[in-house]
Amino acid sequence: MVRETDALGVDPSASEAELKKAYRKQALAKHPDKGGDPEEFKELTHAYEILSDSNKRAVYDQAGKAGLEGGGGMGGGGMDPHDLFSQLFGGGGGFFGGGGGGGGRSRGPQKGKDLVHRIAVSLEDLYKGKVQKLALSKSVICKPCEGRGGKKGAVTTCTSCRGQGVKVMLRQIGPMVQQIQQPCNECEGSGQMMNPKDRCKTCNGKKINSERKVLEVHIDKGMKSGQQIRFAGESDQSPGVEPGDVVIVLEEKEHARFQRKGDDLFCEAEVDLLTAIGGGEFLIQHLDERMLHVTIVPGEVIKPNAMRVISHQGMPSFRHHEMGDLYVRITVNFPQSIDPAVIPMLEKALPARKKVANIPKKTHVDEVTLEEPNDRQRRQAQNGDEMDEDDDERGGAGVQCAQRQS
Ligand SMILES: [Zn+2]
Ligand SMILES: [Zn+2]
Repeated sequence: MVRETDALGVDPSASEAELKKAYRKQALAKHPDKGGDPEEFKELTHAYEILSDSNKRAVYDQAGKAGLEGGGGMGGGGMDPHDLFSQLFGGGGGFFGGGGGGGGRSRGPQKGKDLVHRIAVSLEDLYKGKVQKLALSKSVICKPCEGRGGKKGAVTTCTSCRGQGVKVMLRQIGPMVQQIQQPCNECEGSGQMMNPKDRCKTCNGKKINSERKVLEVHIDKGMKSGQQIRFAGESDQSPGVEPGDVVIVLEEKEHARFQRKGDDLFCEAEVDLLTAIGGGEFLIQHLDERMLHVTIVPGEVIKPNAMRVISHQGMPSFRHHEMGDLYVRITVNFPQSIDPAVIPMLEKALPARKKVANIPKKTHVDEVTLEEPNDRQRRQAQNGDEMDEDDDERGGAGVQCAQRQS
């Protein structure tokens, strides 16, 4: 109760009239047409709905919000906030000019709302495919009373509203008379009446019960973020309403070692300098249990940040399962220093040093040395780097897919 009364800014013991006044004041300020946050408006309306509906309020006072889940009595559980707003404060349009919003729902057979669930899926699962179980709580039509809410024939049409569930009232605003609809107070908007002793014991006259349902979500190989898996008609049931669908939306989790672009994968591998120039090997742990053993043949030189491709080791494509490629950016781990005694061997192995160009005779030459930058200079150097070239991809933020073999 506290949360709902807080949302409206009223005392828990507030009367119907006080509630309506508080809701009206807040709703006018928070209405999306006035630039308010639609979620906040919806919450506000939901709070009002709970507190203003005396039937729901009784359930709420006893069982809290959980008591209301799985069907709070009338219809498809929860109204559209715009519908309620226009119902209370005078029909479509009018209030904010231009109007139109809210008002009547489409005619034809009513379809319940779809229930959208987002699930986070690892890249491993999208690579291999997986069946994930998802437990939902949903409203189902009460079986013992077949959704009537009581004994056969016990339900009669409400005489007060003639089964409409709403009453049309006239309201005078200055010189104008406005027609407004209000939920029928006799039947609480259901359009039906019943003797309490004929009420169904299972659903307590609510026509629906809450049931736990386990859905098997088939995550197929190669599926992508944003892809939907639809379970037709598995959303909440309600008498006289075609149930909506449960829609599962996949969300790909970020991976520590791989990045995905379409059906291709990208990763980074580090090799030591000797492997880079003299050949060697490294391993890549793939998204399944396999290791890829990569050989760099002697004589092939890998330059720092070289890009290589391993064909058909990317993601499987959706449906056809054709394999994309795996791109590997190779970083080279240089030694910190080298023993000057072995340099002659390097001179033998590597192409000769580049000679300094001939300096014209009269040129003045200063002898200088390279130093390690100090802290301030290092920061300066990094700032300069950012402006010169985009270094993000190669910096510490990159992903490492390789493990070096010991
Ligand atoms: Zn009625
Ligand atoms: Zn029942």
